[in-house]
Amino acid sequence: GEALAVSARVAPLGSRLVLLLVEDLTEARRIEAVRRDFVANVSHELKTPVGALSLLSEAVMDASDDPEAVERFAGRMQIEATRLTSLVQELIDLSRVQNDDPLEDAEPVRVDELVAEAIDRCRHQAGTKQITMAAGGTADLHVWGNRGQLAAALGNLVENAVNYSPARTRVGIAARRVNAAGGEHIEIAVTDQGIGISDKDKERIFERFYRVDPARSRATGGTGLGLAIVKHVAASHGGEVTVWSAEGQGSTFTLRLPEAGAARDRAHQQPARS
Ligand code: ADP
Repeated sequence: GEALAVSARVAPLGSRLVLLLVEDLTEARRIEAVRRDFVANVSHELKTPVGALSLLSEAVMDASDDPEAVERFAGRMQIEATRLTSLVQELIDLSRVQNDDPLEDAEPVRVDELVAEAIDRCRHQAGTKQITMAAGGTADLHVWGNRGQLAAALGNLVENAVNYSPARTRVGIAARRVNAAGGEHIEIAVTDQGIGISDKDKERIFERFYRVDPARSRATGGTGLGLAIVKHVAASHGGEVTVWSAEGQGSTFTLRLPEAGAARDRAHQQPARS
């Protein structure tokens, strides 16, 4: 009603203005729908482990005279509690990357350090699957940004590469300098020989909570938030994340970020927040 009244008032100003106003309302409605979906998703994701914990604690009480069963149920409670903790941590990370301006405490960050940190984070998981990790081209490259956020972004990409790959495969991380239109950039590409992603899913994997195979994602401790965090970090640094993939062959996720020297030279032109 309100919208119509406003439209009627501005109509004489020209149909173009009315069109803009209608587009604005559509956009506002879309944002509201996204927010509602997000809250529903979070509630659902929280309910699952909490529900399991509550059932398992009942089972423990019923099995008090069977020490083996108690131990088994307690083990599963621990898994659910870990899942809950990582979900809450990722929600905190997501809200942090969405609310903090990463360039407020931006600094030159060494690419070899970022890569070493990401590899370290996945070393255990890669070891149990006998996945080899190798990095190249990272020497003497510096990106411009928030060290913690960049480490989280690259860490998520390497973690996914390991999680969605079969045993005894290879994960490669390669960095290089590129000359893009907006100045010097650094590209860090994470390549795996894993399950790959279909064209249809490629469009959606960066959405919050979207998973191609929810059961597989949960089994590896996935929350469905990792790539949403990566996308946000890339965009807020004036960069981008892209994916190439062939089903059954593997995937390459490429993180493009402004180079430290180049970014400092145009420090007055801060990339827009999103
Ligand atoms: P998750 O916590 O489920 O890994 P992400 O947001 O990191 O969430 O990824 C979303 C989905 O994209 C994953 O559930 C998985 O289906 C798919 N995906 C991400 N990285 C890869 C990869 N390297 N190979 C295959 N599929 C991937």
